[in-house]
Amino acid sequence: MVKCTCGNMIHVNAGDSIRDDTYIWYMSYHCDKCGESIEADGYDIDSIPDDVKTAIVKREGEWGLKSLAGKVKIKFLINKVLQCKNTDFSEEIFFVGTQNQVKWVKSRLIKKGMVENDFVMEKL
Ligand SMILES: [Zn+2]
Repeated sequence: MVKCTCGNMIHVNAGDSIRDDTYIWYMSYHCDKCGESIEADGYDIDSIPDDVKTAIVKREGEWGLKSLAGKVKIKFLINKVLQCKNTDFSEEIFFVGTQNQVKWVKSRLIKKGMVENDFVMEKL
């Protein structure tokens, strides 16, 4: 639920997916009170609004990506994959997000030379 500009609380339809290696998020809502209708989407992991991410995480849970590989290598690669900094996480988990975000980050890291078996995806 988010607050419309008119003050009404409205249900947001939000989701994300991966299509042809591209991470896609979308959201839409319609306010019954004032008639405002909003639809938005985006095609990269860094542009997702917090509201949209929160709505997806509420439904699917929050996921973390752990790696068995060296931390220095992972940190180096993840800074190449993501524009935003992801340094607030624990030692073990180096990326946290929606399930599709974690999948996408994992696939990018594999493309950069990591091995699939180096990773563990875990619902937090
Ligand atoms: Zn409204």
